[in-house]
Amino acid sequence: MLKEKVALHLAGPTPVPPQVAAAMIMPMINHRSEKFSVLAKDVASKLQALFRTQEQVYVLASSGSSGWETAMVNFVPAGAKVLNVVIGDFGERWSKANAELGYAVEHLDYEPGTAARPAEVAEVLSKHQGSIKAVCLQHNETSTGVSNPVKEIAAEAAKHGALVLVDGVSSVGALPLHMDEWGVDVAFTGSQKTLMCPPGMMIIAASKRAWAQAEEAHTPKFYFSLKEYRKSYDKGQTPQTPPISLYYGLQAALNMLAEEGWEQVQERHHLMGEMCRAGIKAAGLDLLCTEEQFASDTLTAVMVPESVEASAFLKVARDTFGVIYAAGQGKTLKERIFRIGHMGYMTPNDVLVALSAVENSLAILGYKIQGYNIQPGKAVAAAQAVWLEAVRQG
Ligand SMILES: *Cc1c(COP(=O)(O)O)cnc(C)c1O
Repeated sequence: MLKEKVALHLAGPTPVPPQVAAAMIMPMINHRSEKFSVLAKDVASKLQALFRTQEQVYVLASSGSSGWETAMVNFVPAGAKVLNVVIGDFGERWSKANAELGYAVEHLDYEPGTAARPAEVAEVLSKHQGSIKAVCLQHNETSTGVSNPVKEIAAEAAKHGALVLVDGVSSVGALPLHMDEWGVDVAFTGSQKTLMCPPGMMIIAASKRAWAQAEEAHTPKFYFSLKEYRKSYDKGQTPQTPPISLYYGLQAALNMLAEEGWEQVQERHHLMGEMCRAGIKAAGLDLLCTEEQFASDTLTAVMVPESVEASAFLKVARDTFGVIYAAGQGKTLKERIFRIGHMGYMTPNDVLVALSAVENSLAILGYKIQGYNIQPGKAVAAAQAVWLEAVRQG
């Protein structure tokens, strides 16, 4: 095997296109110069299109997880009661962060593979009679491959006077998230998943309603103070030294997405999601998320068959068939699932490759369906059929 040529199907980081890599080798510039302001303003305006918002979108030099803290300390008053909707490990981590930051955390927990129910969110909000100041949730829970009905949950939060803060780290751009139209108060993402860039940037926007409450949010903050960003942004600058190379990369990535078309990017992800799910089912495997309407179009979580050891499967897929999947995440899912990332710089062809290595690896490991050896090719054929049908339908 040519060891360098592997297909990276993680849930992030995702492959970086050559255009993005090339853009990042530009020489350093003065970040207090006109040249940087032009770059920053161009990136900011494209990010507004990506987030579907008229509000300013800020780029911070930090990883996606910093979005949790940034959303909280800027817009939610210190010590306030908040509701963490937890459908997986990332939701769990955000609730831990909130507890650590001194918020009074209420939980609404769901079984892995399940999406949150807007009516149940509403029920909790009613029970607390307006005392919950913010609802925190993932748009796409990357540990389980499930997307939450953000639009409906945002509507419930608004009825009960709570802000809705959305972790869109594995969704923004790839899955529909209409920040302004849906009344999402804070949304954020990271650079290394749907946005085809290396890790290192957290990108965040907030609604007017959230900004109006920012004055009361006397939570200690310094590096993550968005008020400081707001002041600098008017001049096309950032409070601290920005990650200039990543900025160039992000500009190149956003240009590619804009050229493809913001809607078309989402359609491509939807097609890849459908292909992957059809392939997995055709191979006789089970999806963790059994409700099609909540299945993620950016990654697919697959149950590891009982006769197969997760670590052995991942190793054969990587070493023998050149495909890297993400392992299960979190205590309960670590050995039970593997995840196929299909977001960012990916096309339907990549899904075919990812599925073929699933079948081949299971064949090598002697996986049987109802006593018979797995027949490699079924998953790929099913995914091809989905693609073909999509092309025929135009
Ligand atoms: C990847 C991910 C994060 C964490 O991002 P880091 O860049 O690793 O800090 C948070 N939330 C979701 C939904 C993610 O997919």
